[in-house]
Formats: sequence, C-alpha cells, structure tokens
Amino acid sequence: MRCSKKSCLSCDLPYYVFPLWSQKGTVVVKLPIAIYGEDVLRQPGVAVPAMTDAIRQLVEAMLETMRAEGGVGLAAQQVGRTESVCIADATGAPRSAELAGANAVPMPLILINPRMTLGEGEEYDQEGCLSFPEIFVRIKRVAAIDVHYKDMDWQDRTLHAQGFLARIIQHEIDHLNGTLLVDRMSTVQKVGVAGKLKRLKKGRCHPME
Ligand SMILES: [Zn+2]
Repeated sequence: MRCSKKSCLSCDLPYYVFPLWSQKGTVVVKLPIAIYGEDVLRQPGVAVPAMTDAIRQLVEAMLETMRAEGGVGLAAQQVGRTESVCIADATGAPRSAELAGANAVPMPLILINPRMTLGEGEEYDQEGCLSFPEIFVRIKRVAAIDVHYKDMDWQDRTLHAQGFLARIIQHEIDHLNGTLLVDRMSTVQKVGVAGKLKRLKKGRCHPME
C-alpha cells in the first residue's frame, strides 16, 4: 500500500533494478514493482511451507523495495512472486501518533501465511497502492482486525490491529488473495479514474505528452 502523502515514485522507476545497502550492510536488490495489468497481481498467494534462506532474501528485498518506493506495505505479488508473504511499516505514515497507542507493535511487520479475522466497525480513508501509481481513493475497511501469521522465527503470532495499521494489513492480504484496489472501488470511483486505469494497463502512468 502506498502512503497517500507520498508522491508517485514508481512512475519514474518502474522497470529498473537498483542495488541498495541493507541495514545489515549487505547489498540487496530493489525489485521492480508489478503495475496494474500484470497477471501476477491476480495470482493467489501460495502458503510458505517453511522458513528458508530464499524466503529471508525475498523479505529483505521486499523491505528495501517498499522503503525505496515510499510505501507503507507490500505483498509478494507486487514484486512478481506468489509466496504468501506481505510486509507493513506504518511508522512514517500519517496518524503515526494513533499507532503509538493500541497498535504499538514493532515495525516493520512481516506476515507469513497471514489469515485475518475481521472485527467490528467500518472506516473510510484514502488509499493508494504501489501497483496503481497516482491513484488515491476513499475505501471502506473494517476498523479492527485480528491477524494470525508466522513470523520470521516461524512462530505462530496473533496481532490485534486497529485504524491505519488494520487498513494496511487488509490491503496487503487483499493482494495475497489476488484482490486489488480497483476491486474495492465503487462504480463512480472507477469511472473517475478510468483514464488512469487504462493508461496503467497500457504501461503508462502519465498521459501522453
Ligand atoms: Zn497495494
């Protein structure tokens, strides 16, 4: 998921691979982001059977990619993979003060094989997506969720999330089910961004000059 306060970066950098330094001092590769229209975004996530070096490398590359793109969440399909893995980092997001309360959990969150139980209440808020550059729409989400997942130590975890963090997790688990931002839009919203959607499918973020 893209933070709605960020400008579009993936328009300028969609199909290049950049080596970056990870926090551990090793070189990792920023992965290209799959843009609306690419088939992989519709593929459902496949359960990860065990923690392996390949999964660790995928997670590290996803973290670097999310940070480089200014995102607050990312799912495996968005980097061309189908493992049931998604990540979230809401620390720099709007309403981070809200997160410091009920959602005070270490970031980034790495969710492997996540399953979600929806709680009560509904909220509308702006959402963007790294796979839908320049599109921001108000989307209805459940206000609170419980998410069950494996962590990087392969331990079973349950997290209760509210507000913006709950929104990010719902958005990323949507990706793992092949559900996209466009599927959550109303008919009126789709009409409003129809031109942009068409250009994305054609491989262009911006109107032709
Ligand atoms: Zn997204």
